[in-house]
Amino acid sequence: MVSTELDIESIRKQFPILHQEVNGKPLIYFDNAATSQKPQSVIDALTHYYDSDNANIHRGIHTLAERSTTAFEDSRKAVAKFLNANEVEEIIFTKGTTEGINLVASTFGRKFISEGDEIVVSNLEHHSNIVPWQLLCEEKGCVLKVIPVNNQGELIMEEFDKLLSDKTKFVSVNYISNALGTINPVQDIINKSHEVGAKVLIDAAQAAPHVRLDVQSMNCDFLAFSGHKVYGPTGVGALYGKRELLEKMPPYQGGGEMIKDVSFSGTTYNDIPYKFEAGTPNIGEVIALKAALDFVNDLTPEAIAEHEHELLEYANELLKDVDGFQPVGTAKNKASVVSFLIDGVHPFDLGQILDAKGIAVRTGHHCAQPLMERFEIEGTVRASFSVYNTKEEIKEFVEALKSAVKMFKA
Ligand code: PLP
Repeated sequence: MVSTELDIESIRKQFPILHQEVNGKPLIYFDNAATSQKPQSVIDALTHYYDSDNANIHRGIHTLAERSTTAFEDSRKAVAKFLNANEVEEIIFTKGTTEGINLVASTFGRKFISEGDEIVVSNLEHHSNIVPWQLLCEEKGCVLKVIPVNNQGELIMEEFDKLLSDKTKFVSVNYISNALGTINPVQDIINKSHEVGAKVLIDAAQAAPHVRLDVQSMNCDFLAFSGHKVYGPTGVGALYGKRELLEKMPPYQGGGEMIKDVSFSGTTYNDIPYKFEAGTPNIGEVIALKAALDFVNDLTPEAIAEHEHELLEYANELLKDVDGFQPVGTAKNKASVVSFLIDGVHPFDLGQILDAKGIAVRTGHHCAQPLMERFEIEGTVRASFSVYNTKEEIKEFVEALKSAVKMFKA
């Protein structure tokens, strides 16, 4: 399927939130890298759960408990299919990417990483893929190494090669940078890390909405994503882990569902994935995540990516004419994110002016302060496009930028 076959108008109709005015102007939502909007099918799935099926899962024998348990486990199957995991048990529900990474750092990290060992992240990471590893390093005395980025915002792979050694125990990198949109050469990173015996986690928070994910062909050891960035609800995400690793890892939190038997003389833990799912999860949100993944599968990740790429190219073309426009991050391989500065205008002021025209963009450091430091800036303006965005919206956005620039230069 090619993007011309995507009927963007009918896709837009599925997103009720898009059809409103903000500050007297039709909403243009370009903050998709922070969170995407939700189609009616996701909202309906969530409402249906609370209208009709609400019950705690796994432990009940009554009809509602059975219904909600079945829907919850169907969602796990949908995630396994979405990621092409080998087994459904390799999918752990989490609150989101952040929790997935923390889970791995706390369990795999605490058990298998020791003093003097090295963990590699990149200079492009979101704080969620830096701080959990820093915490582990503080606790265990291991060392955090950082893959540097070039002026285009691409990882310098020759430097990555130099960082790898038999001390490298773990490599954790994002697939797509939220701050710049750079698509990283994750396959190369996985292969090279495995050559030195390191395990690899892929932070797919930004990749899940934009590219087809296949954990078996990538051969990553772990992969984490968030539901809310892929048209699903907040408060739910998934962590994929290879069975052989998940089985060796200790539990993350203690409580209900993660146990087999509890006694004061000793507690035995449940099998995967339940070993990592302590307490009542976000049942309705997990169930509604399936509707979000169905939405992506129906359109196909390839057609979504193609439409978004067209939007990116169109935006890049028009933005060249904006006085003082300075792109931050010009990687060859990019997802639909434009991060930029305008000479002499503070990003925050631009964000406010755009908001007054109904245009939602993000301004600031995008939870990537080390990257901002690398570029010696405090932050950027970031416009990130999704499948429901249009070229007309981009045109409006660029016109709004031009008039903002005129206002500041007057
Ligand atoms: N990693 C990346 C690349 C992200 O873009 C984000 C969110 O912006 C996260 C991790 C954290 O995701 P969450 O806040 O959903 O846990």
